Amino acid sequence: MKINKHYMDIEETYLFSEVAERVRKFMAENHGAALIKMGIGDVTRPLCPAAVEALIKASEEMGTAEGFHGYGPEQGYEFLRGEISDYYDRNSGVNLFSDEIFVSDGAKSDLGNILDIFDVDNVVAVTDPVYPVYVDTNVMAGRKIVKLSATSDNAFLPMPFPGLEADIIYLCSPNNPTGAAYDRQRLQIWVDYANEHGSVILFDAAYESFISDPDVPRSIYEIEGSRSCAIEFCSFSKTAGFTGVRCGYTIVPAGLVRDGVQLRKMWLRRQTTKFNGVSYPVQRAAAACLKDAGHKQIMENIAYYKENARIMAETFEELKWPFTGGKNSPYLWVRCPGGMKSWAFFDDLLSRANVICTPGSGFGECGEGYVRFTSFNTRDNTIEAMKRIREIFT
Ligand code: PLP
Repeated sequence: MKINKHYMDIEETYLFSEVAERVRKFMAENHGAALIKMGIGDVTRPLCPAAVEALIKASEEMGTAEGFHGYGPEQGYEFLRGEISDYYDRNSGVNLFSDEIFVSDGAKSDLGNILDIFDVDNVVAVTDPVYPVYVDTNVMAGRKIVKLSATSDNAFLPMPFPGLEADIIYLCSPNNPTGAAYDRQRLQIWVDYANEHGSVILFDAAYESFISDPDVPRSIYEIEGSRSCAIEFCSFSKTAGFTGVRCGYTIVPAGLVRDGVQLRKMWLRRQTTKFNGVSYPVQRAAAACLKDAGHKQIMENIAYYKENARIMAETFEELKWPFTGGKNSPYLWVRCPGGMKSWAFFDDLLSRANVICTPGSGFGECGEGYVRFTSFNTRDNTIEAMKRIREIFT
């Protein structure tokens, strides 16, 4: 018996355990310090009333002979795929066929699982800094990874360069951790690159609902030629507070063909072999969030986080700390003041302001000298954290 040795190649990310350890040590020495976590990646707003109502109603249905639902349709219930399709139409002017939409238990699973349909010899391009899932899932399989530097020189939006040979390209827009988002022009260049090279773009749109800039596409399918080169991943986690409920969806367009095979068919085969779908109550709740009343409610929560982001941006502007993000994204990627390194600034902020951020170096080499703040905390905590930062650093 042999194990998959590629697992030994996965770099231990000490990021969140190291953050927890430093916070624990600080608290042991400073009993009673009122910490504010401004690095959290989870949401704080509760589920919207429409989702809760749908969960209760669907659960009650499940307790009746007439309303019981066992295994559902392979790609998700038609009522949810119909809502997703209408949402794309309304939101991006994109028309999707129902059989291009695959409902899942979240974007993270699909982002990893999609690799089942690609050969291990493909070269993978990821940005640096990066959402670590893209790297680790490919290291597990033994694929070669090339890194595309996201720096202030390219507005944290890496572009194809002469000589780049990438078969699989991960683009996350709006980006975690930088908060930067590709505009139409830049995304078109990537789509053209992928079509010319026969590459596939894995487009992570988990934060699309935070976009307010009309030049930033909410879906890669707004870009001409994308249906023959891109798979899109989306999630109800940040859009509707489903981090603990679990629901997402992946779009594999019918026109995406490689080696003469429709990737949609391969993904269907993969999912029907290894996945048995998302529960009926959860799909009802997700559908409720896309209907008029529910959508209005989830957008009120997004507006709440976006106002937090605005308050944070205002503070960083006042302090003249260069940052990106916060406008189309819940993330603000902030240059550490005084040329400090990520961990040094983390420690400084923790000890002097009792505010916790996430060191950018944990997301890749290019993240050194930056920290990530998120707008997912409560309004009161956000205001208090910014007040402390202003008082200390002004
Ligand atoms: N993609 C990005 C960029 C994320 O930041 C996250 C969650 O933090 C996910 C995907 C995972 O989302 P889900 O909760 O749907 O698995």
